[in-house]
Amino acid sequence: MGAMSSLAFASFLRAPNPGPMTLDGTNTWILGAPGSASVAVVDPGPPDRDHLKAIEAAGPIELILLTHRHLDHCEGVDGLLERTGSVPVAAADPALCRGVAPLRDQDRIEVAGVTIEVLATPGHSSDSVCLLATAGADRGVCTGDTILGRGTTVVAWPDGDLGDYLATLDRLATLDGVPALTGHGPVRPDCGKIAREYRAHRDERLVQVRAALSDGARTPADVVAYVYPDLEPALVPAAEWTVRAALAYFAPDADRNST
Ligand SMILES: [Zn+2]
Repeated sequence: MGAMSSLAFASFLRAPNPGPMTLDGTNTWILGAPGSASVAVVDPGPPDRDHLKAIEAAGPIELILLTHRHLDHCEGVDGLLERTGSVPVAAADPALCRGVAPLRDQDRIEVAGVTIEVLATPGHSSDSVCLLATAGADRGVCTGDTILGRGTTVVAWPDGDLGDYLATLDRLATLDGVPALTGHGPVRPDCGKIAREYRAHRDERLVQVRAALSDGARTPADVVAYVYPDLEPALVPAAEWTVRAALAYFAPDADRNST
């Protein structure tokens, strides 16, 4: 088994794909009520042999779930299925599903002794979902990249959308005291609290982007230099996506294909 969370039904295996966008690596969550004969796997992560082997060893796997379509979360699905044989794969994006219908908001799934409620949480990507898992008296919510263990999330514009993301944060703000089982980095003990902090951070950034524009910033690169003056070069592209998302939020009719 991987690292334990505070929840008896949830543990994670961290993939060896650290980087500026993935923090220490992707967290693959293994969900199963104590004593359950099977598990559900959330986000197999990258196609790393040893990582997939460890996921397989945590099985038998009853269902694979994906929080969203980004490759650091889903690219390992094929390799995992090669090891396990046929296991259904559920995601909001129909292109990623195998053997089951796409996930929709408020779907309820019973798997491995755990009840999973699907929350459509677009913003980071258009297909992002959070998975609110309950086993007995315990609850935890798999947040993918919508809430991270450290720092804040990129709105991967143009697929991601800042208006959607703000609405998502307001929805997650209602999950007081529910641990956020994050897609990268450590567990966050209180999803509701973090969602409110993220919301406040976004609101601050929007004020800064407005200030940059009124000070004469014209291009996304200008705005990045103004809002994030000391940014590590590896993070500049991510900051540009976020700034483009903010600019699109202020001017929603602007052409998303013009960069
Ligand atoms: Zn992502």
